[in-house]
Amino acid sequence: MGSFQLRRTLYYSSYWTLFASKVGRVGCIFCIFNNDGIFKNGTLTDSTEPTSPHAESRPAICQTPECIHAASEILYNLDPNHKKVDPCTNFDQFVCGGWRERHDMRADQGSIFAGTIMAENSQTRLRHILERSEPPEKVDTDNFKKLKAGYDACLDESAIRKRGTKPLADLLAELQKIYPAKSDLVAGTKDHLTPALLFLMKSGVDALVSSGVSPDDRDPDNVVIFTSPPREIGLPAREYYNNTKTVADYTQVLKQVLPAFGGNDKIAESIVALETKLADVTPDTATQEDVTKYYNPLSIKETESLVPEISFEDVITELAPHDYKSDRLIVGSPSYMKALSKILNDASRETVSFFLQWKLIQAYSDFIEDDVVTPLRQFNNKLQGKDPQASEERWRKCLRRLDSGLGWSLSRFYILDSFSEESKKLGDQVVSDIKERFVFTLTQTAWMSPDVRKLGIKKVENIVQKIGYPTKSPNVMDAHDVGKYYHDLDVSNDKFFENELAVAKFDLQNEWSKLGKPTNRDEWDMTAPTVNAYYNPPGNEIVFPAGIMQPPAFYGPAAPLYLAYGAFGAVSGHELSHAFDSTGRHYDETGNYTNWWDDDTVKAFEERAQCFVDQYSAFTVEGPGDKVLHVNGRLTLGENIADAGGLTASFHAWKKHDDASPDLHLPGLEDFSKEQLFFMAYGNWWCGKTTKEAAEQAIYNDPHAPKSARIIVPGPSRPLESFFRDATERFAAELWSGSSRESPAMEPLHSAIDSPTHSRDKSAKSQIRIDELPAVNRPRHGGLANNAISPLRRANTVAQSGNLIKRNLELKATRDKTDTTTGIRAKDSHEMLRNAPLQRSKTQIHRSALETRPAGRKAGHFTVGSVGQNGKIFLRYDRN
Ligand SMILES: [Zn+2]
Repeated sequence: MGSFQLRRTLYYSSYWTLFASKVGRVGCIFCIFNNDGIFKNGTLTDSTEPTSPHAESRPAICQTPECIHAASEILYNLDPNHKKVDPCTNFDQFVCGGWRERHDMRADQGSIFAGTIMAENSQTRLRHILERSEPPEKVDTDNFKKLKAGYDACLDESAIRKRGTKPLADLLAELQKIYPAKSDLVAGTKDHLTPALLFLMKSGVDALVSSGVSPDDRDPDNVVIFTSPPREIGLPAREYYNNTKTVADYTQVLKQVLPAFGGNDKIAESIVALETKLADVTPDTATQEDVTKYYNPLSIKETESLVPEISFEDVITELAPHDYKSDRLIVGSPSYMKALSKILNDASRETVSFFLQWKLIQAYSDFIEDDVVTPLRQFNNKLQGKDPQASEERWRKCLRRLDSGLGWSLSRFYILDSFSEESKKLGDQVVSDIKERFVFTLTQTAWMSPDVRKLGIKKVENIVQKIGYPTKSPNVMDAHDVGKYYHDLDVSNDKFFENELAVAKFDLQNEWSKLGKPTNRDEWDMTAPTVNAYYNPPGNEIVFPAGIMQPPAFYGPAAPLYLAYGAFGAVSGHELSHAFDSTGRHYDETGNYTNWWDDDTVKAFEERAQCFVDQYSAFTVEGPGDKVLHVNGRLTLGENIADAGGLTASFHAWKKHDDASPDLHLPGLEDFSKEQLFFMAYGNWWCGKTTKEAAEQAIYNDPHAPKSARIIVPGPSRPLESFFRDATERFAAELWSGSSRESPAMEPLHSAIDSPTHSRDKSAKSQIRIDELPAVNRPRHGGLANNAISPLRRANTVAQSGNLIKRNLELKATRDKTDTTTGIRAKDSHEMLRNAPLQRSKTQIHRSALETRPAGRKAGHFTVGSVGQNGKIFLRYDRN
C-alpha cells in the first residue's frame, strides 16, 4: 500500500527503447511471399488447387494437444473472410476479425483485449479452487482457510449491505477523535495533524503527503524513506481540477454523500476548494516521476522546516523499527511542501478535518454497500468511461481483493493449478535468448559511444530475470513459508470491511519494517496470476508473472517456439528495452542512479526516435461523435520504440533456434510460413475491442498506441513500410551495420520495402477504424484505489517517455505557423506544450493531454487536435 515504487515500468503502462529499426524489415514479411503464391496482391489466394494433407511438399505438422489448441485459437481469431482481407494493409482485421466476432464487452468494461480474457480465465480457475471445501493438498489447510475466509466475507453482499455505513462511520468517528473539527483544546490546523495522518496511513490512505519506503536510487542496496505529494488528491489527477464541469459534478457528489457523515453543502465546497489549491501546487506526473527532479535528499529537520505542520520525526518514530537510525529523507517536491504549509495555514480546521474524512470515505466506499455512496460510485464509473450504473460481478471483485490482500497465498494456488516447471524453464530460456540478442545488438549500435555501449552490454548482462513466481520472500512453492508470511494478518470470514483495514495495516507494517535492512532483491511487485510484466530500474530486473505466461501469449515447450517467441518473447524484449528508456537509462549496470550516457549518444538517440513519432502520428482512431483522432506520436513514442525493439530481438532469438532445430508447422495453418505464424502469434496477443469513449481517453492519456497500431509493428502494413524505409535510409546502416545482417530468411524483406509499388503517400492516410480498435488497458481498482492501491499499480505509466517527449517538443515544435483552430501561433503552443503536463498516472482518465491556460484567455483547456506527420502539433482550445 505504500506508494514508493514509482519507477517501475509495466508492460501496459509505460516505457521505451531504441533498438528497433530492423523490425521494419521484419514488418513486411507477409508481402514478401507474394511470389510464392501464398499471397497475391497482398491477399490470400483463393486457390482451388488440391490441398491434400498428404502432398509431399507439405511441411511436418505438430500434433501435440498444445499445437492443436494453438492452431484452433489462431484459426478462430482469423477474420472469417481472411482470404479477402489484405494482411499487408489490414493486419489487425486479418488476424483478429474472428476474435472480435467471438468476444463482447460487459457493461463494467470500457475495453478488452486478449490479455483481459487471459486474466478472466485465471480468475475462473481460482474461483473454482476457492469454491471447494478442501484445499487441493493437505499441507495448505491453513492457507486455504484464510484465503477462503477473505473470499467468503467479501462474497456475502447481503451481510455487508445489512451493516450499511456503520463500519465506515465508526472509522470516521475514530479519526474525529484524533483530529476534532472543533474543540476547546485545539486551535489552527496543526494541532494533532500528524497523528491524524498516521491514522490514515494505517488505514492505507495517503493525504496531504505520501510517505513510504523504497530502495535509494543512489544506493540501491539500501532502503530509504521517500515523501512526496500524494498521487491522487481527490479527483484522479491534478489536471481534472482545471475542468469546470468535472469539478462541478464532483462537488455535487460531495454534497450528496457528505450529509450522511455529518457534512453539508458548505463543507463540500470548502473541501473541493482545498483540493483545488493542492492541485495547483502539485507537480505534474512527469516531474514527480523524473528521478532528476524527485531525488532531493534532506534531513528530517530540513523537511520539517518546509512544512512545520507535519512532524516527520513522529511519523518515523511511530512506523520505523525502534533501532532505525537515519536522518535522511528523499523529498519528492520541496516546493510542494512549502506551498502545503501555506495552504494549511490558510485553511480552517473544520475544512481540514472533513477533507481527511473525505479521503477515508473515498477509499472505503467500495467496501460498504449502501445507497449513500451510490453517487460517488456512479461518478467514478463515468470518469472511467463505464456505464455509470455498472458494477463488477461480486466474485470478480472478491478475487481482486484477495489478489491485493493475500496475493502470495492466491499465487500459490494459482501456480499449483496452472503453471508447470517446464513453462518456467522455457520462459527462462526465452528471456535469456533475448538478453543475448540484445547484447549482440548493442555491439552493433554505432550511434552509441563505445563507452556507453560497453556499459550498456554490462547492464544487459546484469539484468536479473524473474520468471513465474517468487521463490523467496515468500517462496510460493512452500506452503509453510506462505503461511508464515501472512501469520500476522488476521482474516475474518464475516467482516469484509475489517479485513480490508487489516490488510492496510499489515502492508504498512511490512513496508516500514524494511528500514535499516539491506534491500531485499528477492521481492516481487506483481502476484503470480497477474497478466502483465515490469522492469524495475533500481533493481535492474525484469519480472514476468505466470499470469502472462499462458495461452495465447505463451504456449509451453510442446508447441513450436515461434508461438512463445512471437508473443511472450516480444513482451520480454519490450521490458528489457525499458532498461534503456528515458528513466531506465539514468540507472547504470548496478541499478545506481547516475548519468552514464554522454550528450552525443543522447542526441543521436533522439534524432532516430523522430521517425517513430512521424509514423505513429499518421494513425487515427474514431472517437465519440465520429471525431477523428490522431495517435499522439510523441506521447506513445517510448512504448512504440519498445514494441519494435522487443519484437526485433525476439524474432532474431527465435530464428536462431529455428535454424538450429526447426520448428514444426501447425495443423490447418500449413499455408502460412513459420515467420508469418510468429507475427500472427504476436498479433493475436493484441486482439481487442474498445468503446469510442475509451479510445478517446486512451489517445490523450495512454502512453501506448492503440492496440490495432501495436499489432502493425510487425504487420505488413504499407503505413509502416514508409516508416521502416525511413529507418533503413536514416540509420539502419549505423544501427544495424555489418555483421548484424539478418538471417537469409529476412533478405526478401529488403526488396519488399524497396518496392515502388508500396507507396509511402498512402501511409499517411491509413486509418484504424473504430470497429477494429482493441482495448485500452484501464485499471479497475475499487476501494482503496484512490489512495491505497498497490505500489506497482500506482507506478508510472505515461511517465517514462516524458523527458524525451519534452526534449523532442523543444527540437521539433513548429514555431512560425498559426493554428487555424485556436488562432494561437505555434510558437505559443510550443511554449504551452513545454509547460504542459504531458503525462498521466495510469489511474487517471483525463480528457485532455494538455490542459493549461494561455495568458489572457478565459479558463479552458487544450486538447491535441491532431499531430501532423512531422511532429507538428495542432491544439484545439475549448472554453470550459
Ligand atoms: Zn512498456
